[in-house]
Amino acid sequence: MPDCIFCRIASGEIPAKVVRRTPEAAAFHDLNPQAPVHVLVVPTAHHSAARDARGAEGERQLGHLVAFACEVASELGLDGGGYRIVINTGADGGQTVFHLHLHLLGGRRLGWPPG
Ligand code: AMP
Ligand code: ZN
Repeated sequence: MPDCIFCRIASGEIPAKVVRRTPEAAAFHDLNPQAPVHVLVVPTAHHSAARDARGAEGERQLGHLVAFACEVASELGLDGGGYRIVINTGADGGQTVFHLHLHLLGGRRLGWPPG
């Protein structure tokens, strides 16, 4: 998707503070961090939201993204304290960028329930 900011970050076309990139996914620091560690994990393939990653291939990609986020969490030293992985979906979910992404948040005690 040419006008999609996360497609362009995932492909390396526009810069971001990348933690890890593979042909299938990229992890980079959020521009407006909500915790000491706030990393976004995005697939290279464009899906507008989690609910659009359908079928066997969509399920495989979603599983890969969660595993990838856990690897990045480990790399960033979050295994001891723990962390949260969030997927905002649609307006009520707080989604503002319509390219599927996982938020990886950690480095402080996070509140629950979320706002
Ligand atoms: P969401 O509200 O779940 O759609 O999350 C979108 C996130 O993307 C927000 O936390 C933004 O701060 C973040 N964001 C938007 N543009 C960029 C960018 N160019 N680089 C890094 N993070 C971004
Ligand atoms: Zn996209």
